[in-house]
Amino acid sequence: MTRILLVEDDDYLASALVLALERKKYLVDLAKTGAQALESIFSDRYDAVLLDLGLPVIDGIEILDELRKSNEELPVIIITARDRVEDKIKGLDKGASDYLVKPFDFGELEARLRAALRKSNFKNSTQMKFASLSLDTNNGQLKLANESMELTPKEVVVLKTLMTRAGKVVSKRQLMDQIPDWLIESSENAVEIVVHRLRKKLEASEVNINTVRGFGYILELRQQ
Ligand code: CA
Repeated sequence: MTRILLVEDDDYLASALVLALERKKYLVDLAKTGAQALESIFSDRYDAVLLDLGLPVIDGIEILDELRKSNEELPVIIITARDRVEDKIKGLDKGASDYLVKPFDFGELEARLRAALRKSNFKNSTQMKFASLSLDTNNGQLKLANESMELTPKEVVVLKTLMTRAGKVVSKRQLMDQIPDWLIESSENAVEIVVHRLRKKLEASEVNINTVRGFGYILELRQQ
């Protein structure tokens, strides 16, 4: 199943698009605000995002900006009424995969979506390794010696950072900096929760995330 996040505040257009996409067998989640969009992006896994730029409070460009800080691969197609050239350039500069100006033909949107998905499937996965752990940072697949599981985007960011500096202490502040600040209400707590979940997932492996009191965390081989 291909999962699409549609970010659109116009009810009429949103329901028409959801219907048309579902008819094409896509699994669609709808976000009507920037906050909802970011919450979904950072807690769920999507194959592509269709992003309206003109949203209340948090603009589509800001969403794209936050998204690209932690995920360079997710295809994002901007759909917007803004036909000004500078908006188009800004969107592409911020890492949009494609750009469609409203009103557009659904057939064209779908063709561009297919093209963006094809391109992203062709990209090589990014594998990181530490001891028996192997993490694919593109799709969040974590392989231990004998099992394989899927991590949430936040877990990927935290584990990736710890793996990059395996054997060295990483502070909570450094981990917090990897996840968009304002998404997290009590940041230190949020880091602790993610680390707690990762520890559970690493239980069957020879690797553990140890706490270095007053400093942060360290990814290292379990003491025998
Ligand atoms: Ca709008």
